[in-house]
Amino acid sequence: MGFSQIVGHQKHLAMLRQALTNGRLHHAYLFIGAEGVGKKTLAYCVAKAIHCGVGNGDFCGSCANCARIEAGNHPDVRIIEPLAGKKEISIQQVRELQRELNFSSFSGKRKIAVLDPVTVMNLAAQNALLKTLEEPPADSMLILIASNPGGLLPTLRSRCLRLTFGPLARHLVSDFLVLRRGTRSEVAEFLAAMSMGSLGAVMSIDAGELLERRRHWIDLLSSLRSGDYRAATDTAEVLADNRDDSIRFLEWAETWYRDLLVYLLTKNAQSVVNIDMLSQIQEQSAKITMERILSHISGTVEAMARIQRNLNRRMVVENLLLNAVAER
Ligand SMILES: [Zn+2]
Repeated sequence: MGFSQIVGHQKHLAMLRQALTNGRLHHAYLFIGAEGVGKKTLAYCVAKAIHCGVGNGDFCGSCANCARIEAGNHPDVRIIEPLAGKKEISIQQVRELQRELNFSSFSGKRKIAVLDPVTVMNLAAQNALLKTLEEPPADSMLILIASNPGGLLPTLRSRCLRLTFGPLARHLVSDFLVLRRGTRSEVAEFLAAMSMGSLGAVMSIDAGELLERRRHWIDLLSSLRSGDYRAATDTAEVLADNRDDSIRFLEWAETWYRDLLVYLLTKNAQSVVNIDMLSQIQEQSAKITMERILSHISGTVEAMARIQRNLNRRMVVENLLLNAVAER
């Protein structure tokens, strides 16, 4: 284990490692980015590199210090999250942290606190944290983690060095699955496309179940015939049954239509995501025009946005499928 194992975010990593080596780490960082892209992992890795018994600017992942940080019980590395059964990080937790940061460290190295997610703090708690950021105790470092900075006091944000974590490139996710999880490459490609650039998301996906569901979705879409409005309405009812399932279906449908487009235009199997479904892609792309596919893609993207805005799910999906079977 060590920094070389980190997936993506190489610029942030290089910058942090240089600061680490030169002893120029800031007192406070704000890591911003979508769920599961690696913010917390990187925060833990920096903490490990500071405390690792053998790392020398890197970390081993297996010494007593690394293990205790991973387990969340290193005396100089505090992980601040909402307590069990609570939704917020409380002002008491922030005051407790303040008190602890003022004690000298057990190891003689930096005291670190990771607040995750920092956005679940009310105004009073944020103001308390602001005091710590304004007068940081010697040799302390705070890493604030959030999926977006909305709801954070501007004064709090401006006290931190902000690093934005984008979604991971698809090939990084699929390489991770193939090389470190032993996933078959065509399945890895598909899962990576469904992960929206989040390793956290891809690891929580049940691959077997998703593949099974995809088979079902392909059957549903392929069975829709031009002019068959009744079938479109029935299918919409099935697909709109559950919010997460609807979103997952739409995410997948977008990859499917993109595959049809890519194959129609290039006849290149290497660029398609649903590579294990190549024969269906060949068959479907021979029966459809480019204009039609483009309209399906924009319809799918629009439907996803509407469901995320909590519009009536059944209506959104039905609208999408009715357009799909509309005769032209
Ligand atoms: Zn170590």
